[in-house]
Amino acid sequence: MRKIHTGVPTDYILVIGESARKDYFHSYGYPVENTPFLDNNFTVKVDGMKSGGTYTIGSLTNMLTVPDKGKWKPRYDRSIIDLARSAGIRTYWLSNQGMVGKFDTPVSAIGRKADKAIFLNKGDYSEKNISDFSLLKPFKQILDQKTDQFIEKVFELLKKEKSVTGRPFSIIYFSDHGLAHKTEKNKTTLTNNFASKFHYDIPLIKIDSDRNDRIELSSEKSGLNFTEGLGNWMNIQNPDLPKTSLFDGKNDLTDYGLKEKINLITTPKDPAIDLTGKLK
Ligand SMILES: [Zn+2]
Repeated sequence: MRKIHTGVPTDYILVIGESARKDYFHSYGYPVENTPFLDNNFTVKVDGMKSGGTYTIGSLTNMLTVPDKGKWKPRYDRSIIDLARSAGIRTYWLSNQGMVGKFDTPVSAIGRKADKAIFLNKGDYSEKNISDFSLLKPFKQILDQKTDQFIEKVFELLKKEKSVTGRPFSIIYFSDHGLAHKTEKNKTTLTNNFASKFHYDIPLIKIDSDRNDRIELSSEKSGLNFTEGLGNWMNIQNPDLPKTSLFDGKNDLTDYGLKEKINLITTPKDPAIDLTGKLK
């Protein structure tokens, strides 16, 4: 997303990971060194972000809209794309997400509201008469890489662009939800078929081009307040937008029953399994 109406435009890049549990990231303490880039290149790292659900659609529809929080129902007329566009920010949506049947998922329907939306797996795009963001093509080419490498490539591309245009950027990375361990016949796999107490624990990392400091925050953040947090990240001024920050280091005033929901999960705790020495 690019903010173009005040001063130097800033590029805001929101990277959504698929099914990534925080406790499997070295940058969050996992012993296998699987996040060499994120380990050393974050500006703010938040420990305590909870997803808005335990599966892609259930979570992202709550996280990428300002939902009806009492009913835990997404509101598609108040999506992150609507919010950004209302502030005059040009929006681009790039996805390699699969499709359910031949229909759009509610998540791709949110993406389709962007000024330009590209769905690589469907070979499909839609646009609202705007010029291309120069980085769309290089972003497309790296979309299949693994999380840490992908973010590194995005960072390098944006840095190169900044050296030419002077345009600052800010990247946020989070994942849609975690997974649960399932053990059958002595074999453990990660699954999404039931919920674990750690299912909602997701990474939340911000990288700003104009800062070199490293801040680690521990604060409880609810996925139901996420879109408001993103709006404030992009400095969107809107009387209806509460001043909720994802990066203030404070617990959300209310999580709308999320913690209670997690407490009701009865499956045994399933912390990350240390695979040191078992990975080739
Ligand atoms: Zn997912």
